[in-house]
Amino acid sequence: MNQETQLYMPTRIIQGPKCLLNNSPLLKRLGKRALIVTGLTSSKLNGSLEDAIAALENENIRYKIFDQVSDQPTIETVQEAFEQNQREGIEFILGLGKGSAIDAAKAIGVLFRNRGISAREAFNMQNLRSIPIVAVPTIAGSGSEVTPYSIITDHSLRQKKDFGQESFPKIAFLDPRYMYNADFSDLLANGFDAFTHLVEGYLNAKATFYSDLLAEEGFRLFSKLKTVFFGPQFPHEAMNDLMVMATLGGMVIAQTGTGLPHALGYVLTYEKGLAHGVATAAMYRGYLAQCQETEKLERMLEAMGFSTLDALLDYISELMDYRLDLSEEEIQNYTRTMIQNLGRVKTQMHRVTKTQLAEMYRLALRP
Ligand code: FE
Repeated sequence: MNQETQLYMPTRIIQGPKCLLNNSPLLKRLGKRALIVTGLTSSKLNGSLEDAIAALENENIRYKIFDQVSDQPTIETVQEAFEQNQREGIEFILGLGKGSAIDAAKAIGVLFRNRGISAREAFNMQNLRSIPIVAVPTIAGSGSEVTPYSIITDHSLRQKKDFGQESFPKIAFLDPRYMYNADFSDLLANGFDAFTHLVEGYLNAKATFYSDLLAEEGFRLFSKLKTVFFGPQFPHEAMNDLMVMATLGGMVIAQTGTGLPHALGYVLTYEKGLAHGVATAAMYRGYLAQCQETEKLERMLEAMGFSTLDALLDYISELMDYRLDLSEEEIQNYTRTMIQNLGRVKTQMHRVTKTQLAEMYRLALRP
C-alpha cells in the first residue's frame, strides 16, 4: 500500500449479553453523577433502563433520568434536558435507546461541557467537545454508538441535520438482548439504516483501506441476514449479527460520512414521515444507477451475494413497503435545498447535477 491511510475510532466497544452490568466499574471512571437520556417507553420495556440503573447503583453513582427524547429529537428537547439538570453536577451521560436517544445524549453533553452556549448557538458552531457519553443502543441501526454525529431536528429550517460537534461516545455497550422484543418493522427500518451506512461509506470518496475492510465484513453479515428481513420472525442469533453489522456501519461512516441518499432522505422523514432507514433506502434506485465506481460496486454485490445490481434493487423494493406522494414542485424544492448544501454533494465519488438529484426523487416514487 503506497498511499496514506487512517482509522480513528476512540470508542471502546464492548459486546455481549449483560455487558453493561458486567462492566459497571468502567462507569466509575467517568464520574460520580450521571444523566440517563432515553425515550419515554421502550427502554423501560426492553430491560435496558433497569440494567443501566443497576450498573450505576453498583458503583454508587447518583443519577437523574431525562426520558423525553422522541424519534426525531429537536433543538428544544436538547435545551430542555440541559436546563432541567444543569445544577445536578452531571459528569457524564448515558444515552439509552435508538439512534435518536444516543444522538440527543451527545448534543446534551455538549451543553454540559460548554456552559453558557445554547443548543441553538451550538448548532451553528463546530468542534465543541462534550462531557463523556456512554452509548447503549437498544436497536441495531444508526451506529451512533461509534460515531461523532448527532442528528437533530430544527423546525425553523424544517430539516434534520448533524449537530456538528466531535462527540464520539467513550464506551458503547452492545447487548442484543434489548432487541428481543423489538417490532419487526423497527428491526427492518433500522437494519436498513445500517445497510445504507455500509454502502454509502464504501462508495465514498473518503473511504480508506480500513473503512473498506469494515464495510466488506458488514456486507458479508448482511448476506447472512438477507432472507431474515422478509420475516415474520427475527431469530435471536440474527439480532446479534445485525448489531455487529450496525456498529460496523457506524465505524465506517465515522470515517467517511454518509452519502447522497442520507442527505436526500432527511427531508422525506421530516416532511413525509418516512422512517429514516426507509427514506434513505427509497433513494437507492437512483443513487446506485448513477454510481460510477463500477469495480467497487461489483465487489460489494459479490460480498452481499447478489449477482447483479438489479437483483439488489429488486430486493430493496420488495422489502421497503412505503407510500410516498411527491409533487414535481416538492421535488424541485427539495433539490434546490440540496444543491445549497454542497458539502454533501462534494463527498461523493463524482459531482452530481440538480437534474440527477431530481431524478433520484422521481425514481423513489412508486406506481
Ligand atoms: Fe442513517
